[in-house]
Amino acid sequence: MLDLVIRGGRIVDGSGKPGFEGDLGIRDGRVQQAGGRLPESGAREIDARGRVVAPGFIDPHTHFDAQLLFDGQARPALEHGVTTVVHGNCSLSLAPLRAEHRAKLVRMFQQIEEMPNAAFEGAFEWTWQDFSEYVAALRGRLALNVAPLAGHSVIRLWVMGEDAQKRAATPDEIRAMQDLLRACLEAGAVGLSTSYVDVDENLFPVPSRFAHHEEIEALAAVLGEHGRMLQVVPEFYDTDITLARVDQLAELSLAHRIPTTFSPLFDSSAAPANVSRVLARVAEQAARGARVWPQVQTRPIDISFSLDQASLFFVTAPIWYLVMRLPHDEKLRALRDPGTRAALLKAAEPGGDTARFGRLRVRDSQDARLVGRSLAEVAAERGTTPAALMIDLSLAEDLGVHFLAANMGHEDPARIGPILANDLVHVGASDGGAHIQSFATYGDTGYLFSEFVRKGGHLSLERAVRKVTAETAQIWNLEGRGLLRQGQAADVVVFDAETIGRGEELPVRDMPGGGMRYTRSASGVEAVVVNGEVVYTSAGGYTEARPGVIATL
Ligand SMILES: [Zn+2]
Repeated sequence: MLDLVIRGGRIVDGSGKPGFEGDLGIRDGRVQQAGGRLPESGAREIDARGRVVAPGFIDPHTHFDAQLLFDGQARPALEHGVTTVVHGNCSLSLAPLRAEHRAKLVRMFQQIEEMPNAAFEGAFEWTWQDFSEYVAALRGRLALNVAPLAGHSVIRLWVMGEDAQKRAATPDEIRAMQDLLRACLEAGAVGLSTSYVDVDENLFPVPSRFAHHEEIEALAAVLGEHGRMLQVVPEFYDTDITLARVDQLAELSLAHRIPTTFSPLFDSSAAPANVSRVLARVAEQAARGARVWPQVQTRPIDISFSLDQASLFFVTAPIWYLVMRLPHDEKLRALRDPGTRAALLKAAEPGGDTARFGRLRVRDSQDARLVGRSLAEVAAERGTTPAALMIDLSLAEDLGVHFLAANMGHEDPARIGPILANDLVHVGASDGGAHIQSFATYGDTGYLFSEFVRKGGHLSLERAVRKVTAETAQIWNLEGRGLLRQGQAADVVVFDAETIGRGEELPVRDMPGGGMRYTRSASGVEAVVVNGEVVYTSAGGYTEARPGVIATL
């Protein structure tokens, strides 16, 4: 008797070859047989006739670090068919971390990833400092697999303390960082993450940005001992600097025989040649044998926000950003203060920012007549400017009005489809678990199938599956995952190719302390299996099973 048999589906095995009808037999967490008719019965059986049976999706860019500690199912990622997540991206991870640096790290997470304080405070117990203790804390909680990165900023903090944000490291400190990274890799880290753009809560560069190249080089050498990944956030807002980063990553990849990846790479009307120029450089470097994987997201960039929080929308307007970070009552006073108001409005004028504010739509307001209308339209009627209108509407409702900045980039399917289909592109960058009050990225995989397989036809079903399963496992060296072949880990998603997609984005208050986030439910995903155990079905919801493992161990 098998543990689980998924019968009669169309098996799309992750390799990219055409799907075929047959049964999938699972025993002891592994695929026993993929295809053919299985006479043996299973302790549990799933009828998959008319459905696709594929390897579980692997999401290479998430920030589920905190959430995994109070929600081992990483809801709602799991119900979208994601069975493995990489977390610890962008130079930030929860380990290795000395107890005295916890508050600092939480503030950086809040700033960079827009994670609410309550997600860290009281929602779980900090029981670890080094990476092996952290991995032990994850064990037994997980419904899905994880591949954790060690963050360069926290490695620096551990070794250099406050100096991590002041200066380059000494040779001794670099050696200490190498030893620390080596210990992380041995404890299960899938690689190192670093950032060249992020800032802390005081808008000061994060520790990783103080590293000279020799430090990166030394850490890459340690990655090379294990063939592990270097993940980088490059200066994505500038094509020429990004090209220089591609060259740097290529040299590191060749010198140390490591894979590298950078994220995000996205299309924007402000820099229409950005993606094509970067991909041309990636191709040149790939021809030399360098492994440099640009991560490209599937979804357009939509940002929702209220003035109650410091939104991503304001990152290009520092004065707005600073005011938005004030406590509620202080912020109300600031917004009513004529001097501050004038400064804010002035910052919203030059450089086309008027258009940026004008394009905003009211997403949610007590005044139903405003919902769905653009600020430009309403401001014209009232003889004011979009930015002034935004402040006035917000003050009238105690900052409760929500605005939507739709299609801020990466929104033209005719341009995005061919990019996602490019062999050199790594589909990812969901940022799942981060920016939870700005957008819901859950369902980026569903969006790949609905928008670029079904609607646009840019990728075949088989190729799209491969992009988010076997190819991802190969890029990240996650051995034994991403393919439905005998002996491979039985991470499986059963879905309806005609209906898989992402649900509508909805605000919910399900974060610790009643915090709000945007989520999306799945559509078309009928069953999700991790290491042979059913963790979700559309009919029965989430199960109690916790079969997730550290995918690198
Ligand atoms: Zn990130």
